Amino acid sequence: MNEQQISQLSWSENQLLPAIVQHAISGKVLMQGYMNPQALEHTLQSGLVTFFSRSKQRLWTKGESSGNTLQLVSIASDCDSDSILVLAQPEGPTCHVGTETCWHDNKANSPQLSFLYDLEQVIKSREGADPVSSYTASLFAKGVKRIAQKVGEEGVESALAAMAGDREELANEAADLIFHLLVLLRSQKLELNDVIQVLQQRHK
Ligand code: AMP
Ligand code: ZN
Ligand code: ZN
Ligand code: ZN
Repeated sequence: MNEQQISQLSWSENQLLPAIVQHAISGKVLMQGYMNPQALEHTLQSGLVTFFSRSKQRLWTKGESSGNTLQLVSIASDCDSDSILVLAQPEGPTCHVGTETCWHDNKANSPQLSFLYDLEQVIKSREGADPVSSYTASLFAKGVKRIAQKVGEEGVESALAAMAGDREELANEAADLIFHLLVLLRSQKLELNDVIQVLQQRHK
């Protein structure tokens, strides 16, 4: 978005447009604020999502005091140019009460596929945790060979379940496979997003 495109947005009389911020990977809606042309320009220039705070009556870079910033990934206006959609990578919790998003009801703000992202974060948090109380931590402790072996096993079990026509068993084995694959990726410092990018490249 350039200067000209910014000026062509359908600015209301008070020069404010609602700006909705979505997590760039999970798709969860993180927060909503208002932007004026200066806030939008500042966001684009700094790469940090910046609003016009109606209570402070000044530009407000999210995270300016808490450090919980929103790193800009992309920005777009809607069909009639009166609303802004921002994709961002959050640094820490986005809501000032300390939760991931401003919609605290997890059910209302959890698109099904975002669970894969949540699970990835849980797996990450188990690195170096107590192997006695956490199965995931015990996998990390055993090392890449054991994790890779589990992925192979679960892949074969998924294939056998499909061959047997057992859909319930297939769903169970596919769950095992995806979980262990996420652990394997993490053990090699890879994320599901890296795999998605490969798929997107191929799709071009
Ligand atoms: P921060 O920008 O994170 O340093 O927070 C500064 C102040 O902005 C907080 O004390 C809140 O008053 C307000 N604030 C922070 N995050 C949000 C949010 N997600 N929605 C509404 N207000 C917020
Ligand atoms: Zn609109
Ligand atoms: Zn909030
Ligand atoms: Zn299995």
